[in-house]
Amino acid sequence: MGLRETARALETIGFREIYLKERLHKRKEDKSDKAELLRRHFDSFKDCAKCELHRNRTQVVFGDGNPYSPVVFVGEAPGEDEDRQGRPFVGRAGKYLNKKIEEVLGLRREEVYITNVCKCRPPGNRKPTPAEISACFPYLKKEIDIIKPKVICCLGATAGEGILGKKLSITKVRGKNVPYPYDPSITVLLTYHPAYILRNPRADGEFTEDMERLKELIGL
Ligand code: URA
Repeated sequence: MGLRETARALETIGFREIYLKERLHKRKEDKSDKAELLRRHFDSFKDCAKCELHRNRTQVVFGDGNPYSPVVFVGEAPGEDEDRQGRPFVGRAGKYLNKKIEEVLGLRREEVYITNVCKCRPPGNRKPTPAEISACFPYLKKEIDIIKPKVICCLGATAGEGILGKKLSITKVRGKNVPYPYDPSITVLLTYHPAYILRNPRADGEFTEDMERLKELIGL
């Protein structure tokens, strides 16, 4: 029985919750779509050579995790471990991030979505250049369009600058949230990069506060 006939049949016995059933049905359909849309999107740029980073990479490192996550974490660019394994945040900084996701948000890493502003490793883990960030931004933008999270959590200044298209001082803006310029229904939350906390353990408290803010923003 299709949705319309189901709704009519339920109405005859006094159901008034048909709108809700239709929405649930739609959300279920959405699920397979997002995973498939992301798969096709990644396939479209797996051989990207738009910037110099393609020369030294082992592979393009795509985003990873739950495409229905209410939050997308955005980092800077893959490091050595990520370049080798083909997944974002699998090194020391990633282990710290996973721990915070579990302890503060009460979620497993697989339940959220994690990606980077640049999808290829810069040689020697240097910061990506503005030209490299601009070349890669359309890929990130489309990833976000597909996922349409409630919150984009920018990990560090480079992620914030990539998402907002504006130079930032992370120590001044951390903990703040602003609308995502391409879709103001999405909130951008700015915080430190996990690698910064590993170098400056005293910033752990502020990062925890930001994760608590994130928890509120996504309604957990
Ligand atoms: N740092 C990042 O910004 N991204 C990663 O994927 C790993 C470390």
